[in-house]
Amino acid sequence: MPIKGFEKLSLLDFDNKVTAVIFFGGCNMRCPFCHNFDLVMMPEKCDDISFDEILSYLEKRKNILDAVTFTGGEPTLDKNLKPMLRKVKELGYVIKLDSNGLNPQIIKEVVEEGLVDFIAMDIKNSFDSYEKTCGVKANVEKLKDSINYIEKCGINYEFRTTIVDELHDEEDIKKIAEMLKGCKKYRLQKFVDQGTCLVDGLHEVSIEKANRFIEILKPYIENVGLRGYDK
Ligand code: SF4
Repeated sequence: MPIKGFEKLSLLDFDNKVTAVIFFGGCNMRCPFCHNFDLVMMPEKCDDISFDEILSYLEKRKNILDAVTFTGGEPTLDKNLKPMLRKVKELGYVIKLDSNGLNPQIIKEVVEEGLVDFIAMDIKNSFDSYEKTCGVKANVEKLKDSINYIEKCGINYEFRTTIVDELHDEEDIKKIAEMLKGCKKYRLQKFVDQGTCLVDGLHEVSIEKANRFIEILKPYIENVGLRGYDK
């Protein structure tokens, strides 16, 4: 699936880094809270963006940008992901890859070739609640493979969960705590309904409930925190 979006400069997508963001169309999940409805459900209706034009922009902005983020949709579904990563790496950029973790083989290949510097993997929910949260019958073995690999592969990473009032409860968070015990970094992200979700009627988790989640996680994960609750 071709590139469907390009943000020239973002201060929000990669901690402490000025990054450009490349969005791929298509996804193998259907998370009800997904904000990228058009990108996921009807990528053919979004205009293609030329990778060559992005490259030429990146070449000119090397003095302003620190990094390039590959996101989606799900970037690991694109058969041209590796050649694109190579070209961006050749320009000297730090690269962040966002993934839902369903494609451990590609994650391993891009890490082992030195093509990415940071991986952010979504943990949609406890495995018991994964299906309702990602909208498909996800292959849990593949997700576990990605988690185990990312934890041990030696590059920087984070796991993150967008918490939604109707989808996450304390039992789920306890199970996630066990599942991610000892991981380097984990963030609970605030869900905000911007009216472009796959499913209507979902609500954000209150700050009080989000803080209770954090208290559950703290004994298991040192670097754990909220994202999006400080505004
Ligand atoms: S939120 Fe879910 S459906 Fe949307 S792009 Fe991410 S993994 Fe795919």
